[in-house]
Amino acid sequence: MQQLRDTASQLMILNDEIAQTYSSYQNDRKLFCRSGCGECCLHPGIEASVLEMLPLALHLYDAGVAESTLDALRQHDQAGCYFYQASSEDRKSGQCGVYPYRPAVCRMFGAAGYRGREGEVLLSICKVIRSDQTEAVIATEQSLSSETPPMMRNHKAQIAQLDYELSKENMPIKQATAAALEKVLTKAYYASFAE
Ligand code: SF4
Repeated sequence: MQQLRDTASQLMILNDEIAQTYSSYQNDRKLFCRSGCGECCLHPGIEASVLEMLPLALHLYDAGVAESTLDALRQHDQAGCYFYQASSEDRKSGQCGVYPYRPAVCRMFGAAGYRGREGEVLLSICKVIRSDQTEAVIATEQSLSSETPPMMRNHKAQIAQLDYELSKENMPIKQATAAALEKVLTKAYYASFAE
């Protein structure tokens, strides 16, 4: 259990650095998120590794709600992330209910770099930002050859160095959270015999 906690602590530090990097890039390029927008959290394709969800799983365990959250995740059938708290009728506005523990993928939502088939640098950009700030997006895309954006793959690789096994597979965020909770609960169960 202590090993999981140590890994999660290291990941939290790395996550803060990642958030800072992507947020600075968005600010520098004027690619601002719409205030209160929660569309990313409604996207059905958000994926994370079990490792990315480990800090949240430990937090839920420490709060005594690991089992109940696991049950709720298994029953959750609404579109989007279980932890998203919608504040508008169409659910497009809202906030993250676990913001300090959100995984790295959520810190890269707005604008991030990736490599195309020919190895060229491309920009992954949120569709809301693209429609709200078209000029800034075009200027950023034109600058890609001279100014490399933060690259998702590099940060994923940095995270994987903390625990290759727990990071080797990406899966829907709900599934990754459930797997992280199961891991924590199993470790805690066996650790209780060693006390
Ligand atoms: S963890 Fe938070 S930021 Fe990430 S998808 Fe869920 S609600 Fe959104």
